[in-house]
Amino acid sequence: MTPTIGVLALQGGFAAHARVLRELGAEVREVRTPGDLLGLDGLVLPGGESTTMTLGIEREGLAGPLGDLVRAGTPVLGTCAGLIMLDRAHLGLMDITARRNAFGRQLHSFEADLRFPDLEEPVRAVFIRAPWIEEAGEDVEVLAEVDGHPVAARQRNMVVIAFHPELGEDTRLHAQFVERVREHAASRAG
Ligand code: GLN
Repeated sequence: MTPTIGVLALQGGFAAHARVLRELGAEVREVRTPGDLLGLDGLVLPGGESTTMTLGIEREGLAGPLGDLVRAGTPVLGTCAGLIMLDRAHLGLMDITARRNAFGRQLHSFEADLRFPDLEEPVRAVFIRAPWIEEAGEDVEVLAEVDGHPVAARQRNMVVIAFHPELGEDTRLHAQFVERVREHAASRAG
């Protein structure tokens, strides 16, 4: 079956996520209003600017219905600003505190090879004014770190990544996400 994955499209890097997800066989719906969330099998919160994204979510009344979708167990992938949106101080859905622009003003962007638990080869990670996870609850599994700072983590149905897996040729992290979405959709269909 073809899963339908929503990509929050108020602002930021949603188009690149949509392209990768379509390449991997998902149907993609751009999410701008609460109605766009209905019936989704998965959701991506892209990178961008978290302050602007917060204002858009407030304006459109998205926080409540988006929270309901996530609490219902729908697989969610939050990247960069999307990681920030899921944290305690924003949507409050994941038990993490994000630190914005954590790598400092000088270091606006950089790349690093990161190992992930379920991937044989490292991921070439592109960081752009990225956050890191300053603090995480017991229930949060750290998936990757840079200099001892968590930059990817998982809690229940939520995966967050501080860098930009939608840029570049390596689609393995999206493929893992689409796989989880398929499993979730199949289990819902019974
Ligand atoms: N620095 C941005 C913020 O704090 C996030 C950067 C990104 O998403 N590439 O919102």
